[in-house]
Amino acid sequence: MQVDQFFNEKLLNKYNTAGPRYTSYPTALEFHEEFSENDFIKAIENSPNKELSLYIHIPFCHSLCYYCGCNKVVTRHRSKADTYLEYLAKEINSRAKLFQGYTVKQLHWGGGTPSFLTHEQITRLVNLLKQQFTFAEKVDMSIEVDPREIELNLAEHLYSLGFNRLSIGVQDIDKKVQEAINRVQSTEFIEQFIAHAKSVGFKSINIDLIYGLPHQTIETFTRTLDKAKEMDVDRISLFSYAHIPTRFASQRKLRDEWLPSINQKFALMRLAIEKLCAYGYEFIGMDHFAKPDDELSIAQKNGKLHRNFQGYTTKGNCDLLGLGVSSISDIGNVYSQNVKDLKTYYHAIETNQYALEKGIALTQDDIIRGDVIRELMCNLFLDKTMINQKYNINFDDYFLNDLPALSTFIEDGLVVNNKDSIMIAPQARLLVRNMCMSFDSYMKKHISMQRFSRVI
Ligand code: SF4
Repeated sequence: MQVDQFFNEKLLNKYNTAGPRYTSYPTALEFHEEFSENDFIKAIENSPNKELSLYIHIPFCHSLCYYCGCNKVVTRHRSKADTYLEYLAKEINSRAKLFQGYTVKQLHWGGGTPSFLTHEQITRLVNLLKQQFTFAEKVDMSIEVDPREIELNLAEHLYSLGFNRLSIGVQDIDKKVQEAINRVQSTEFIEQFIAHAKSVGFKSINIDLIYGLPHQTIETFTRTLDKAKEMDVDRISLFSYAHIPTRFASQRKLRDEWLPSINQKFALMRLAIEKLCAYGYEFIGMDHFAKPDDELSIAQKNGKLHRNFQGYTTKGNCDLLGLGVSSISDIGNVYSQNVKDLKTYYHAIETNQYALEKGIALTQDDIIRGDVIRELMCNLFLDKTMINQKYNINFDDYFLNDLPALSTFIEDGLVVNNKDSIMIAPQARLLVRNMCMSFDSYMKKHISMQRFSRVI
């Protein structure tokens, strides 16, 4: 892979504006409370899909990482999870009844920290899910693991229950960086855990890394990347630290002067992409890396990559049911979200057996634009003919008022807009969100607000 082609510092600087990550279109900012349980049920009835992806949110964390923007509850009391699991079970039991004709193809546990749960709690939750839903024989089961506060034998426990993918939060191995972000963890243990997980049978292990953290330098991040290579994992997610202290109170603990400058952040990003590609990983979408034989790499090569609330995926034809506090569902042509606060979640489940708070039923225009944005985000290419045939429109007429927004990118050689296709140039890959914003009809109302993180 020609890595140099991704970087044009002048253009990256020019377009480094705030923008959505487009895990959905419209984004969650458009969800509203008029969306009701009846709308959710109707969506299931109308959905052409019969395959299901389940997302389970476990909100608890042992301690607070200062950079974090997730929905979580920090506590030392594991017993709190027992209460949560009781309510979650009620939600699972009532929701499963609505999905009787479905087969579960994918299960993902995220958080917070799913590995906050004890072995016994994990077993109980897996068994309940398998009792209540019909699982396919071959199912992708993945879980996010915080390498602090776990033992090596968590790996065989998870594997024995059917989990086949692990995602481990590494972020950065440098002690000074770890102390600043309040996430001190042992690299030696992470290495042992990964080796152990492989030895018990895990075939797919992902680690998360973050650039743009306090005190990160080229030297320190080089060590992190080299260690990632030694860990020999299958996938690496590389995230840009989004510093929005006005939205996330804990980020106020990270002093501005500790953070890399924008030029240093570019250099860190460039270093990471260059090194990971040199180590043999394929660059997936805008922030993932996978070994060439990984199914994400194969899907990207075949133009079959998809995107949902968990990021890039190969499972494009599944409905997604989110269970637990703050979780998001994507059923047929609707998105919906559960309440975000734990007490409200308990109250809602107690009263109704469900905790839906808001959502959105997509209009035909949302569906068309969502498809265009997804194609660009995943494949950096849009076949206008495919869109024309699928929606019975003339692309250039339909987007007459939107296409002029691409002209600045076209002038800078970042986009080619032909009669039958739109192509994103390799040097615009990191800026693909910006091009997608041209097709986002909700963008104008958010444009002046700091509601999104910067592209880099
Ligand atoms: S980064 Fe993960 S472990 Fe840390 S506070 Fe956020 S959700 Fe919890």
